[in-house]
Amino acid sequence: MTDTPLTLDGFRALLASFEQEAGPAIAAADSSGALETVRAKYLGRAHGWLKDLSARLGQLPKSDRAPAGSAFNEVRLRVEATFDGRRAALAPSNVPGEIADRTMPARRSWQGTVHPVSQVIDEMIEIFRELGFTVALGPEAESPWYNFGSLNFPADHPAMDLHDTLYLSDDAVLRTHTSPVQVRTLQAYPPPIRVLIPGNVHRRDPFDASHAPTFAQVEGLVVDEGITFADLKATLTHFANRFFGATKTRFRPSYFPFTEPSAEMDVLCGVCRGSGCGVCKESGWVEILGSGLVHPSVLESAGVDSERYTGWAFGMGPARTALARHGIPDIRLLYDSDIRFLNQFAR
Ligand SMILES: [Zn+2]
Repeated sequence: MTDTPLTLDGFRALLASFEQEAGPAIAAADSSGALETVRAKYLGRAHGWLKDLSARLGQLPKSDRAPAGSAFNEVRLRVEATFDGRRAALAPSNVPGEIADRTMPARRSWQGTVHPVSQVIDEMIEIFRELGFTVALGPEAESPWYNFGSLNFPADHPAMDLHDTLYLSDDAVLRTHTSPVQVRTLQAYPPPIRVLIPGNVHRRDPFDASHAPTFAQVEGLVVDEGITFADLKATLTHFANRFFGATKTRFRPSYFPFTEPSAEMDVLCGVCRGSGCGVCKESGWVEILGSGLVHPSVLESAGVDSERYTGWAFGMGPARTALARHGIPDIRLLYDSDIRFLNQFAR
């Protein structure tokens, strides 16, 4: 093959340059495909550089073949070990030993997307952030005092009943609403307060088309001097217009233990624009949230002077909003984690 006969030193030099080139090339391979290309070039049994070196070994004088062979084997083992390490690093951990079938079509890469309920929460946070609201979070396992007592629930309120509520023990309950975080916020920070409180809540509800035992809730709380129902109405109407697009809203009197007066807010049905349809149960309106002025006793139980400060609060179920927005007929679809379903709401 060459004009001058190969010497042992010459062979050792070839081995050294092989190792100097193959090692970094293997280390630089950043995918199984790239590694396979490198393997074929350096270690391939058909035309690899190593195969070529092994042929050169046979051209050495007989007396040189033993030391040349052991030098060859040392280098071969080192490079193969580098290759094996790189292959293990790049291989999916569930493919043991030999690399997976290379004739298998590649998986198409896919990207996750934000869940439709989280999309609603994210949009709400964004709209209220522009109005100066920050986000507050709190524990999902609460004391009955935070979940009920501090929020002015009468002692015999059905929500406190074992049948309606998931108690962990006598003094721990899975919160039935995010309202305890209102009290915790009021205890931790002096007014003025503007917070949005997203989080999961738990009730002993059946898991059916319109109920789930665990669901997300978003509450908002504003406490300052001179806050009135006009602030509540203006802020929530602004939110509805931003969230649903320019729409009509209406407030209906309601009752909650922790607000007085209380009101539910409806928006004009986006499907029928008020003429009545299945989504709005023929009423022309869709209820989206409950609200009211914070009950003075709630302020007092959090240590806030109710003579000086007033406030308002609202609570909303983003899952219901997602159902209405996308015309989803069954709330359980939001819990199934079925990618085919969730992909429809990818943004
Ligand atoms: Zn309608």
